[in-house]
Amino acid sequence: MKDEYDVIVVGAGPGGSIAARTAAEECDVLLIEKRQEIGTPVRCAEGVSKERLSEFIKPDKKWIASEIHRWRAYTPDGTMAELPGALFGFETVYVLERKLFDRELAKRAARAGADVLVRTRATGLIVQHGAVKGVKINRLGENFEVRSKVVIGADGVESQVGRWGGINTTLKLEDIGSCAQYCMTNIDEPEDVISVYIGSVAPGGYAWLFPKGGKTANIGLAVLATKLNGKSSINYLNEFVAKNFPDGQPAALVMGGVPVSDEFKTIAGNGLLLVGDAAHCCDTATGAGIMTAMESGKMAGEVARKAMLQDDASMKVLREYKIRWHKAYGKVQKHNYKIKEFNANTSDEEFNRIVKDFKSIKFGGMNSLRAATRLLKENPKLLLFMRHLLYRALHEYRLG
Ligand code: FAD
Repeated sequence: MKDEYDVIVVGAGPGGSIAARTAAEECDVLLIEKRQEIGTPVRCAEGVSKERLSEFIKPDKKWIASEIHRWRAYTPDGTMAELPGALFGFETVYVLERKLFDRELAKRAARAGADVLVRTRATGLIVQHGAVKGVKINRLGENFEVRSKVVIGADGVESQVGRWGGINTTLKLEDIGSCAQYCMTNIDEPEDVISVYIGSVAPGGYAWLFPKGGKTANIGLAVLATKLNGKSSINYLNEFVAKNFPDGQPAALVMGGVPVSDEFKTIAGNGLLLVGDAAHCCDTATGAGIMTAMESGKMAGEVARKAMLQDDASMKVLREYKIRWHKAYGKVQKHNYKIKEFNANTSDEEFNRIVKDFKSIKFGGMNSLRAATRLLKENPKLLLFMRHLLYRALHEYRLG
């Protein structure tokens, strides 16, 4: 570790490693990770769009557990609807082995020239005259101050880097998804289908099953923090598992939060950029954040490079990151937020009725238009929801 770098990236998740790799193509970069092993423990259901991922890295079986093309949704009364992935904008989903995937991304950052350190924690920022000038670091118990022109905070949902740099990253309670997940074995479900369960099984969120092959699956749920009703997400998960997968045996339990906010007004400051969960760059409708972390990481890495070339890391140059992010994702996040609100404000009875009505439509039949019109007439909220879903699907297609 040197005393000074062009760019220091805090956190070696997908956002940090991509930011470090991108910046390292032209700059002197340090990537630090507080954990002793990059990628563990895994706090993720590990699902990612094949199309979007392939923009960043050639898919490799070494870190892909399974490839899925089918989706099922279950309503509270147990009605199942088979859904086309295109409805969400995903043709194919990879279920990753994130502990290997995250490590591979960090290796790529190192190969691009970044210095990578594990068991190295950021404890504060060096701030001078209102500008960030480096990071205070604890490495294996010893304290250091390492200077840099730009700091990229990629330290996840519990991010402190933003706060240290004067950016208010506090999430409102209604914008936090409280998650619990088991990686379970003895799961006798089709291994080529992702299943989601909607309604009071996970109020304001949803429960999921992401198959990983070999009768193993990530089974978890997210509940909106304002809808926990005195329980914790693990209580909801245990009830869900006992009812639906009584033979399942856990190999791992993870708990954590996801930011589901459409507010990322301040993701850049003088000498400071925030990416991924740290910047709330996460799909507000689903809580998925791997791709948005990588996409924001790439943008931040590019803008940091530009700041180095122009020898100016003030907001004058770094503002470009904020503008690019808002242009690419600002509008879709507003639509995603509406989908989240629809989900949070729909009762079990409404979900049951909508899906039953939906299933009764014979698409392609002579009366499909009439049936669809009736469905929307009987469920007027659905019209707005479909509009947001359509916008989202088109947006995903443009990205993929
Ligand atoms: P992270 O992956 O959280 O990485 C942040 C890194 O920073 C960590 O390695 C951390 O140790 C390190 N760090 C933190 N503080 C410091 C410090 N002070 N110094 C040094 N290092 C530090 N997303 C999907 O796309 N698909 C899914 O299926 C999915 N399922 C999920 C299921 C659950 C239960 C949860 C909780 C989340 C899920 N997500 C999913 C969200 C996804 O995991 C995150 O959005 C994604 O990991 C964000 O990447 P990141 O790089 O921003 O942050």
